[in-house]
Amino acid sequence: MPSEFDIIRQYFTFEISRSDVALGIGDDAALLCVPQGQQLVQSVDTLVAGVHFPIETSPEYIAYKALAVNLSDMAAMGAEPAWFTLAITLPNNDESWLKAFSDSLALLAKQHNVQLIGGDTTHGPLCISININGFVPEGKALKRNAAAVGDKVYVSGTLGDAALALAQWQGQCLLQEKSIAYLKGRLNKPTARVELGLLLREYASSCIDISDGLIADLKHITKNSGVGAKIIFENIPRSQEFNLNLIDEALIIPLVLSGGDDYELCFTIPKDKQVEFDKVIKEDKVSVSCIGEIVRSAGIICSKNNKKIDIYNMGYQHFVNE
Ligand code: ADP
Ligand code: MG
Repeated sequence: MPSEFDIIRQYFTFEISRSDVALGIGDDAALLCVPQGQQLVQSVDTLVAGVHFPIETSPEYIAYKALAVNLSDMAAMGAEPAWFTLAITLPNNDESWLKAFSDSLALLAKQHNVQLIGGDTTHGPLCISININGFVPEGKALKRNAAAVGDKVYVSGTLGDAALALAQWQGQCLLQEKSIAYLKGRLNKPTARVELGLLLREYASSCIDISDGLIADLKHITKNSGVGAKIIFENIPRSQEFNLNLIDEALIIPLVLSGGDDYELCFTIPKDKQVEFDKVIKEDKVSVSCIGEIVRSAGIICSKNNKKIDIYNMGYQHFVNE
């Protein structure tokens, strides 16, 4: 049976070693060097078993998502992720669980060149808390408070996929066999749009990652910026796999507008930068879609076939809050 220190050495000491880490795991604290001219960007997210994921979720997915949601926060700030700490509370020292968790975490960390620089390992109900740090050149961070009237509203990727997978998991609908693997992947292994966030530093006036649903998250931008937004439902991108499922229109709308967990970015581009942005983004791997515009009057209006959708009364809480 491994001790706490065996666990740290065996499962939480990864190969990556960045030159800006003067001292990593093994002392009382880590020593880190922030490059000159850069601001340190910091965020923490906790996943509690039974609250944020079902207790039986595979350790591979738990590890992946715990880091991916933190990377997504970096993306939403336009930051380049660099280091993270891991505070983990474990119900036992099951080695096959720990190995799967560690392999998945190490792989995603390597892909993004983020180094695990420390943490804490305790005994108790399963809980994972990751604190991530990144850099952004001074004054270049993408905040929520600078969207202006006339700016265009964009989202990356497609929306509703993760919520549809969750709806199936909760027994709310049946999915086409061909679409299941993709949609489940979107829920369990979300892609953090880190590269896009870096590109947006030069173009976007505001940015947020969509973790609680498009309307809820766009509302953070409009409220913080003292503006409103008009969006067009038909312009909100959906995946082929989502569309394979001929589900009720009444279900599609809440999935797309208030389904969380997609971890796409929602951002605003000032009108005078739109042409250049559209040109640059065409050459990028990530697809983005213009879904509307920032307006003066507060609140968010979403229309479909030129008719207003009642976004406050969709009865979707049901999926998101269970
Ligand atoms: P202390 O008693 O000084 O808090 P710990 O025994 O908790 O030290 O940790 C020893 C070292 O291992 C520290 O460098 C700490 O950051 C690191 N560490 C502990 N748990 C983890 C973990 N889950 N992941 C990464 N590093 C960890
Ligand atoms: Mg400790």
